[in-house]
Amino acid sequence: MSSPWIVAPTQHWNPADLPVHVSAIKIDPYMNIDAGTMAPTEHGECFVLDDGGEVDLDLGNYERYLNVTLTREHNITTGKIYQHVINRERQGKYLGRTVQVVPHITDAIQDWIERVARIPVDDTGEEPEVCIIELGGTVGDIESAPFIEAMRQLRRRAGKGNFMQIHVSLIPVIGGEQKTKPTQAAIREARSSGLAPDLIACRCSEALTPTTINKIAMFCQVEPEDVVQVVDVGLTYRVPLLLEQQNLVSLLTTTLQLDQITIPPHLYSKGQNTWARWKSLVHAATTLHDEVKVTLVGKYTSLHDSYLSVTKSLEHAAMHCGRKLVLEWVDSSDLEQETAKSNPASYHRAWHMVCTANGIIVPGGFGTRGTEGMIAAANWARTRKVPYLGICLGMQIAVIEFARNVCGLTEATSEEFSEEAEKAKEPIIVFMPEIDKQTMGGNMRLGIRPTVFQQNTGWSKLRELYGQPDQILERHRHRYEVNNKYVAQLEEAGLPFVGKDTAGERMEVVELKEHPWFVGVQYHPEYLSRVLKPSKPYLGFIAAACGSLERLLEANKKGISLANNFTNHIEQDFDKLKLTNGEATA
Ligand code: GLN
Repeated sequence: MSSPWIVAPTQHWNPADLPVHVSAIKIDPYMNIDAGTMAPTEHGECFVLDDGGEVDLDLGNYERYLNVTLTREHNITTGKIYQHVINRERQGKYLGRTVQVVPHITDAIQDWIERVARIPVDDTGEEPEVCIIELGGTVGDIESAPFIEAMRQLRRRAGKGNFMQIHVSLIPVIGGEQKTKPTQAAIREARSSGLAPDLIACRCSEALTPTTINKIAMFCQVEPEDVVQVVDVGLTYRVPLLLEQQNLVSLLTTTLQLDQITIPPHLYSKGQNTWARWKSLVHAATTLHDEVKVTLVGKYTSLHDSYLSVTKSLEHAAMHCGRKLVLEWVDSSDLEQETAKSNPASYHRAWHMVCTANGIIVPGGFGTRGTEGMIAAANWARTRKVPYLGICLGMQIAVIEFARNVCGLTEATSEEFSEEAEKAKEPIIVFMPEIDKQTMGGNMRLGIRPTVFQQNTGWSKLRELYGQPDQILERHRHRYEVNNKYVAQLEEAGLPFVGKDTAGERMEVVELKEHPWFVGVQYHPEYLSRVLKPSKPYLGFIAAACGSLERLLEANKKGISLANNFTNHIEQDFDKLKLTNGEATA
């Protein structure tokens, strides 16, 4: 159960003003410096930021929901704090004193938060007035203790009216009964550390009964209206609406004394505007009926959070095309001959999912396991003209498949898949020369980098969707790349590299011309996708899977949005709202 905190570092901010500049910090009390070295099946996807920071997936949620660009410093870990304090100790900055968890680690945490909370995160370049601090983990964890103590002190540092503590707790239902004891125990533990919640957010699978709410209020020493329910919903975009219905805005206003601040009218209307748009989005999303079936072929499918940004991007694109996303998960090794022998049922199920998909996506990944299954899926998509999107490893897979089956390089492979890299006969994908083989963590080709579209790419559907730019910026995370020695041969055989890096040496995008959509990108476009601004590679892929890519491109060319598409619904709804609510007009 994680415990987010909200702290307002400065006093001048506005309550009903949604476009108030909001930032977010996620604290992960583990020892790793960052999420870069953690298995996705253990902790979910590793999210990558513009600055190349490899961070917890929650930063992706904050970037998507708040429409902000965060930095690696917005993700605090025990590893980062200790590294910082130990470096200072080695520099003699503590002037001979004994360095201790309290006060040195706890001070370092507070100083870090205060400094980072002020970093501008949106396109206004202005300092945020509000920072959401999410402290991950569970109350009572040994590793969380210094952070809890730091929060207790930060509450005093911020002063009354500038700090609000929200405790998130799960209310399990056992034998039909809603259980409040775990919440009571957690709050008691937090209180004994000197922290009392202003509000308790209850995660629950069903609406809480008045008895449950009263019990929580009574035993946790809060008012019943300070117990907010966060009920499971099919569409996460509904959550802000549910919170608003429970008066969260007025609770924030009271606790942070926001009513004492005069709201400038232009900011007030901007807030209303954003809110109206959000409501239209939820309404439009719940009315989608037609489906698009996408099969995701990967190796971390046992934990769906391993591909969180990928699934969100598919969802954004599907909504834009007016379709409900049906996502099927296939463990790529299930597509391999080995599984046909050892577990025929899984093998047939996996192939059924691939063969019946409207589109096939092979996302990023590391290591050898399952890569032959991915190559088989790419082969199916290419030869059967099924829309294919290859992300990072998925792009490398598409190139290997083409090299093997079209160029006749039957031994084509990646150095990553061979135990002794130098023995790979046809190393189509090679280790990047500048990457250090001895150390791990933060040393891949990371972060936002330009991709230049090549001279002869007038026909590229992907480039057209981006709006025919000369170059684009997307986020990267990889160690291997297409071997330059094979580029000419692959291009002559019909696999053009339509996007390259600025030096023209790194292959960034492959795209087949005579195919509904066969695109591989070395970058990870999912890190920049937004609900009202879907990532272009994902949008093209989903539109092709729905059979509406041509219409989308045509509409794009004329500078109009696709008729009857999702965004139009939202705009229409929004217009109606504007007519009924004068304040919603910007
Ligand atoms: N393992 C591949 C590489 O390091 C692909 C990485 C990825 O998919 N993020 O290049």
